[in-house]
Amino acid sequence: MDSKKVSALEAYSFLEGGGELGKRTRLFNWAQTSVGAVETWPQSLLSLVSIILSSKFPMFLWWGNDLVQFYNDAYRPSLGIEGKHPKALGQKGHDCWPEIWPVIYPLMQQVLAGESVWQEDQLIPIYRNGHLEDVYWTFSYSPARDDKGKINGVLVVCNETTEKVIASKKLEESEKTLKNMILQAPVAMCILQGPSFVVETANKKMLELWGRTKEQVINKALFEGIPAARGQGFEQILKNVVITGETYSASEQKVSLVRNGKLEDVFVNFIYQALKEGDDSISGVLVVAVEVTQEIEARQRIELAEQRARLAINAAAIGTFDLDLETEKLITSERYDEIFGFPDARGHMDYVALIHPDDKEIRDKAFEVLRRTGRLQFECRIIRKDKSIRWIRIDGEIHKNDEGKYTRVIGVAIDITDLKYLIKQKDDFIGVASHELKTPITTIKGYTQVLEEMLKVNGDSAELSIISKLDKYVSKLTNLINDLLDATKMMSGHLQLNYSEFEFDELVNEISNDLQLTITKRIDIKCAAPGCFVRTDREKIEQTVTNLVNNANKFSPNAENIVVRTFRDGDQVVCEIEDFGIGIKEENAHKIFQQFVRIDNDLKNTFPGIGLGLYISSEIIKREGGKIYVRSKEGEGSVFSFSLPCIHEFQRIN
Ligand code: ADP
Repeated sequence: MDSKKVSALEAYSFLEGGGELGKRTRLFNWAQTSVGAVETWPQSLLSLVSIILSSKFPMFLWWGNDLVQFYNDAYRPSLGIEGKHPKALGQKGHDCWPEIWPVIYPLMQQVLAGESVWQEDQLIPIYRNGHLEDVYWTFSYSPARDDKGKINGVLVVCNETTEKVIASKKLEESEKTLKNMILQAPVAMCILQGPSFVVETANKKMLELWGRTKEQVINKALFEGIPAARGQGFEQILKNVVITGETYSASEQKVSLVRNGKLEDVFVNFIYQALKEGDDSISGVLVVAVEVTQEIEARQRIELAEQRARLAINAAAIGTFDLDLETEKLITSERYDEIFGFPDARGHMDYVALIHPDDKEIRDKAFEVLRRTGRLQFECRIIRKDKSIRWIRIDGEIHKNDEGKYTRVIGVAIDITDLKYLIKQKDDFIGVASHELKTPITTIKGYTQVLEEMLKVNGDSAELSIISKLDKYVSKLTNLINDLLDATKMMSGHLQLNYSEFEFDELVNEISNDLQLTITKRIDIKCAAPGCFVRTDREKIEQTVTNLVNNANKFSPNAENIVVRTFRDGDQVVCEIEDFGIGIKEENAHKIFQQFVRIDNDLKNTFPGIGLGLYISSEIIKREGGKIYVRSKEGEGSVFSFSLPCIHEFQRIN
């Protein structure tokens, strides 16, 4: 050791104080280490040890060739509860730190060569508390000189920063989690940081909402990235959130933004929430937004539609009702009550009680149809309390509840008395007019035929051809008048049918052959129901076939042929008339069997007619227990079919 010796007493006074480590250092048998007994220590070591022990800063010293160790109370916790302490005191550096020797020894050598080392938050795992622990340090290694100024040790002033590092790692992780959460959120989210609200993170939905790309907004001040959003009040709202720390939320807020290259008004529900740091200071704002433009537009459309419907309902004097099918509770509009002659709303059965006794069945049937098809539609008479009779029309639709069960009928009622009166006047007029026309036309026809016979006898061929044309047109007029008469009779329920039994094929063959004389197109007759007898009005079935064949001819101007087919289908016999003409659009197919219906298209005026033929045919067939229907494709042609029940051998009278 050095020449400058100090007495033990003096030496120990240097080591006074210093808490636990002070005491341990005083009691330690230093003579057994290469440092030697305290009395032999150089002044520089005594001073160093004294500074270390009295320091409240964690300090550590390696001294001499063996790098013998000294440390203080402040350093002691870094050695753990059970582990290196107290063995580390006086121990050789290498014996104490075998696990980190490869890390620290090169550093020490640097220091011993005269260069100080400083490192921050350095991970140096050490063995403590029974296992190897990740410990972070901020430390400086500086040269410790002996009395001669020679570097003889390494003074370590250090601070364990494990807690700080872990806390900041946790913070980093939680920030990362927050960012991930934002990026994957199913709603638009972003984080704005600092006084100019720099967009730190924004997810795809938020970028879509803004109509901006990542490059246009990320790490840019919000209103620089989205200039269109400026001046709409959001700057102030954001500032307030940062100043007060209070969350701001808004519903259906209108924002004008440039999206897809054009300025659009969009509606958003959003929340601005202050982002607080550990010390409660506000560093930014978390934004959560949901675009509700479509919902608002849909609502506006519904409101508009409702308004229009209300207007239409009021203008058309339509009454509305809502009937609960389970409870029979009926909610009605004022107009509905008025139609039924009630000053205010009544129970369901009060309305039903007004239905004319003869029409009650119509209503019951309509309700049966409602349960099958979901649609309610009927016309009936009601007898109001003041005895006046009114015609009403009800139209409704069934509605399901959330479980898919039919629970309500919602519909409308219209007073159609005036309309019915007009229809009756029209029917009466048609009835009277056609009746009055029938007699003179029959007479004209008679005279035409007489004239024709006379001209035949005289051999006046030119006049004869004029007269046969006249006869043809008179026949057309007669048919028309007959149709009108039949239709009025059907409407008033006065059509008389004259029943007879006949073989169906025989009738179809006969009419088709007769029609072939008047039609230039070829009629292919394919009768395949021999022996099928029907009991019905022969003349009316003749009229039906004639009408269908004439239509097939009329509506297929460019076709070469028409096919007339019969066949048996179970206990029915079917007649099909097929043409290859203009066909019928699917949506019109069901309409054509109604009276006065003619398909409204470019060809309407090309083909003459008044739209009664199919109505009459269908009424006849339905009355006879058969069916009439059409299969058609526009531009390709149509197949009209009707069926009638066959009578069995034993049912026949002769
Ligand atoms: P009309 O022929 O006197 O107009 P109908 O009651 O016989 O009256 O026919 C009603 C409508 O149905 C016709 O106006 C026509 O539009 C359509 N129609 C009937 N038969 C055919 C057919 N074979 N092909 C195409 N359209 C047809």
